[in-house]
Amino acid sequence: MTDVAEAEALILGCMQPLPSEERLLGETAGAVLRENVEAERDQPPFDRVTMDGVAIKYSDWDQGLRRYRVIGTQGAGAPPLLIQPGECVEIMTGAMLPDGADTVIPVERLTRDQSIALIEDSAKVSDRQFVHPRGSDRIAGTRLLSSGLAIGPTEMAILASAGLPHIQVTKSPKIAVLSTGDELVEVGEPIQPYQIRSSNDRAIEASLLRHAQARVTRVNLKDDPETMFQTIARLHDANDTLILSGGVSMGQYDFVPQVLDTLGVELVFHRIEQRPGRPMWFGVSKASKPIFALPGNPVSTLVCLTRYVLPALRQAMGLDTGFPETVRLATEVVFPADLAYFLPVKLSSDDTGMAVAEPNPTNTSGDFVSLAGTDGFIELPRGQEVFPQGMATRLFRW
Ligand code: AMP
Ligand code: MG
Repeated sequence: MTDVAEAEALILGCMQPLPSEERLLGETAGAVLRENVEAERDQPPFDRVTMDGVAIKYSDWDQGLRRYRVIGTQGAGAPPLLIQPGECVEIMTGAMLPDGADTVIPVERLTRDQSIALIEDSAKVSDRQFVHPRGSDRIAGTRLLSSGLAIGPTEMAILASAGLPHIQVTKSPKIAVLSTGDELVEVGEPIQPYQIRSSNDRAIEASLLRHAQARVTRVNLKDDPETMFQTIARLHDANDTLILSGGVSMGQYDFVPQVLDTLGVELVFHRIEQRPGRPMWFGVSKASKPIFALPGNPVSTLVCLTRYVLPALRQAMGLDTGFPETVRLATEVVFPADLAYFLPVKLSSDDTGMAVAEPNPTNTSGDFVSLAGTDGFIELPRGQEVFPQGMATRLFRW
């Protein structure tokens, strides 16, 4: 049997990078940036006024001048006016500093007498105050964003500032999600007392939409090797990867490994030393496509998806994932089995304000309703029985 780290490394070693594509800026939110982006202009692109008031020459103020002749009004977006000694411009936040001016006095510090602005004598004025100098954040041509970033609100603002109408991003992966089981019934269909609503495929789809912007096809399959064979072959050809749930254990109707083998999918590993999710199966097709077959118990499905499939997709998408997220255990946990333990948790904070993970164990790996309101799970490594309060553990969010 494979251990957790080994399983992860084997999977990551089989992932091919997804292609990139050019998209309109407005269609890139949540996508992974696949080009480096440089500043189109200096940032800010001009000496930017940061207060409503008047723009003056500091040397006038320094020489004791308190009455300035107003030569005009300049708002944001207007070309700069020109002042001479003794003059000022009525100026608005966001405007370019007028030529000849270098300092801004807020409107609260002055009174107007027709064309004269009279500055309070008590006003505190320093040279170049309320001016955001051109190029003080970045100069033109400097790298603003690197390939591998997920495009969130901050990246989006920077992309827009760089003036790029089209952006190179990772193409959304096409993923088929196949639930297997004779007992499964779609929502909206009539259901018998001995049947089960198919929920794994919905959970997987929700996760793939949240984390990978995937284009998902959902299919429910009966435990029948022939239909499984046909459908898996068809969906394999039409997708970048397949995620199956159910049918990978030791039961007489667990046909998934056998069908994948018949299709020529090469087994990389079957079973991981962990709870839940021990029966997970992973292989690579002849076309080098990764095939994930997750155990059907709903907690196992979600844990395996989150622990193995999502990191693999992140790598394929070219996402720079940084360092793993960790959190401290809120209470001691005892787990005597010689397996890695994935324990669902709710995040809260301790009395010092630090984030901690409150264990929220499920009754069994079938008890997915207990996962409501959990944030994810922590990974407690194999080979240790007692995990003390305060121990740092890896956190995986749903
Ligand atoms: P299996 O891995 O096929 O042995 O399934 C293990 C358990 O998970 C069984 O109780 C199944 O009914 C349940 N299960 C399998 N697939 C699904 C699904 N798509 N939605 C909900 N439960 C499922
Ligand atoms: Mg089954």
